[in-house]
Amino acid sequence: MTVSPTVLEVDRLRVEAETAAADLVLVDGADLRVGRGEIVGVVGESGCGKSTLVRTLIGMLESNVEVADGEVRLGGETVVAPGRDASAKVRGSRVGTVFQDAARSLDPLFKIRYQLREVLARHRPDLTGAQAAAKMAAVLGRMGIAEVERVLDSHPHQLSGGLRQRVAIALAVVTDPELVLADECTTALDVTTQAEVVSLFRDLVRDTGVGLVFVTHDLLLASDLCDTIAVMYGGQIVEAGPTARVLEAPRHPFTAGLLASVPSWSTEGPLVGIPGSTPRVTTEFRGCRFADRCGRASAACADDVGWTGGRGDGVRCVHPLQGDPLLAGPIDKEGH
Ligand code: SF4
Repeated sequence: MTVSPTVLEVDRLRVEAETAAADLVLVDGADLRVGRGEIVGVVGESGCGKSTLVRTLIGMLESNVEVADGEVRLGGETVVAPGRDASAKVRGSRVGTVFQDAARSLDPLFKIRYQLREVLARHRPDLTGAQAAAKMAAVLGRMGIAEVERVLDSHPHQLSGGLRQRVAIALAVVTDPELVLADECTTALDVTTQAEVVSLFRDLVRDTGVGLVFVTHDLLLASDLCDTIAVMYGGQIVEAGPTARVLEAPRHPFTAGLLASVPSWSTEGPLVGIPGSTPRVTTEFRGCRFADRCGRASAACADDVGWTGGRGDGVRCVHPLQGDPLLAGPIDKEGH
């Protein structure tokens, strides 16, 4: 598909947290580009930094967490950088966010009609009452909701989980944002509803040209929806590329490990989990974050590992794989 101009640019983003025990690095050197009409998947295990990345983009970091380096631009304008956070200006208007739990987006005390109207009143004051009413009905229709009036007159608890998540997406997109951030927003849904939400996002992006960042631990789901995938581990993007390339020829051993643990990709061998867990990365940490769990680790992996390849298609690994996702074992004599 034709993509661009660029909506979101994340450059060398580093986010740190000050804790009583140590200073932690939550996101390190993250680069990401999202074009108009493009769906970028951010995939990784729980605790890999993907949700911190999203919260940084919308300025919702905890008080002990700060941007230490890099910047985030929306439509070419810097909104997040060290000592600068203009994300409140764009949150809700130019950037819509959908969280895992619709309860975080919906107020249990108010009917859906009131909540949608409030969002429009805050971010689209140019609309008349009639225009706002038409927009609310249209956005629910776009979400595949047939009984628009019933939903508008309902409180969140009167709707099913799937319907609540559709309404949460409607709240995120009713202002016609340039960018939507979906943070594990299908995780709490059953498989059928997950597929419906994925289809809904696909149609939304195709019809409106909005850019979408789809954050998930579910590689299978990401592969179904995303044009490109960025794999995160230990706060770093360790591999990125077009979805087909990442799935068919993963270069990072962690990506290969993720694939080996998904039944659909492991038909030629046994399902293999990745032993161990994500490291706690302090500011003193050096070397590859995956080394303790990697069958290809060598002495060279003890130094900081740089990015190989182009922006948006490359890998952070000293001994990248050469194409077979099931060969994530020790390196050979040539270092492959
Ligand atoms: S080969 Fe080295 S750099 Fe690559 S993932 Fe394994 S430990 Fe990290």
